[in-house]
Amino acid sequence: MLQQVNAGHKSLADYRSIIRRDLYEEIQDLSERVKGARVLHVNATAFGGGVAEILYTLVPLMRDAGVEAEWGVMLGAEPFFNVTKGFHNALQGAPYDLTIESRAIYEEYNRESAAALERSGKEWDIVFVHDPSPPSSSTSPAGSGRRPSGSGAATSTPRPRTRGPELPFSVHPRLRRPDLHDEGVHPARRGAPGPRHHPPAIDPLSPKNMALSTDDARFITNQFGVDPERPFLLQVSRFDPWKDPLGVIDAYRMVKEEIPEVQLVLVGSMAHDDPEGWDYWYKTVNYAAGDSDIFLFSNLTNVGAIEVNAFQSLADVVIQKSIREGFGLVVTEGLWKARPLVAGRVGGIPMQVDQGGGILVDNVPEAAAACTKLLKDPEFARRMGRHGKEHVREHYLTPRLLRDDLKLFAELLNV
Ligand code: UDP
Repeated sequence: MLQQVNAGHKSLADYRSIIRRDLYEEIQDLSERVKGARVLHVNATAFGGGVAEILYTLVPLMRDAGVEAEWGVMLGAEPFFNVTKGFHNALQGAPYDLTIESRAIYEEYNRESAAALERSGKEWDIVFVHDPSPPSSSTSPAGSGRRPSGSGAATSTPRPRTRGPELPFSVHPRLRRPDLHDEGVHPARRGAPGPRHHPPAIDPLSPKNMALSTDDARFITNQFGVDPERPFLLQVSRFDPWKDPLGVIDAYRMVKEEIPEVQLVLVGSMAHDDPEGWDYWYKTVNYAAGDSDIFLFSNLTNVGAIEVNAFQSLADVVIQKSIREGFGLVVTEGLWKARPLVAGRVGGIPMQVDQGGGILVDNVPEAAAACTKLLKDPEFARRMGRHGKEHVREHYLTPRLLRDDLKLFAELLNV
């Protein structure tokens, strides 16, 4: 029930010119200490969502550092993903009742994954659990493995019910041990214990984030029918109520009253563990009501990483009007492209928006006013973009996360 993901090859040396020298050297020192450590990363999906994004870079860089890192994805089916989607939403504040059936489904899939792991005969020094979906699936021989756990979901305002004894995490009390926790997200997850914060990061060399020339980016976006001579607002997000695509459309409509030539591009990946995504996609299509200046794209209409990169590189304003958010990797991506940002004041977004590096908003009219201001004042927008990019360079590129994790491994393994 655990499917191994081949995350390819990466070399830290390629990042040398992008990151600070002392960080580079620190990683080299840590690599010496943790060389040969056997680390299994477990999460729920290899496609879509922030955790998978990160692992595609982090796992190969750990291997480059000499760690024997592997990545296993739980092979769930729809009933399991429906349950874990419920957890995900509940952890972000949605009402949720954990039924006996849901709990049984959850435990069954986890048990099967754990059994498969045992059958594989492999041993791990550290099992790193990244999603709420598989916290009980990972086993380590004779309890030798230590198990940091970090969830990609925001848990700053979880529903009280789900934090009672029925919460799946209560079923696994080890997960509450602060000394075993790596809070993968943000101090906003106030409910979670643990002394460490390893905020996520993006890979500046991945197809999604590598430097694209304006000409190349235009060449790509032109193929999707967006008018290159007119400004466009962009939100890249799963189709999900917490990402508020309908609110983005409302804001765009308000902007359009003042700036009629504005266009809106909404890009959303349809993940297989996201059964509600389709309903929300159609809701958004209906809400757009045939407006020919609103463009809706997804991975299924061939908007993959490089296309997302092109749209992010050219957007006149990157919007992330989330109502709840985990960390918000897509915000990091937009900032890295030196775009002006308008984003909800939720989850991990405020920590990414350094003073002057973006505009935080609490509602649709504020979002619309911020977009209008940025479109009318390109110099202000340019300054904001440059500032945001440097903030990301300093704090949110993968080598920093690699350093944090290698340090944790060295500590756990006492090397
Ligand atoms: N993403 C993508 N295509 C899409 C929508 C999202 O590649 O159509 C990526 C996006 O670029 C980001 C990740 O999915 O890297 C979403 O991570 P984030 O933390 O923003 O949100 P999550 O989906 O984990 O809540």
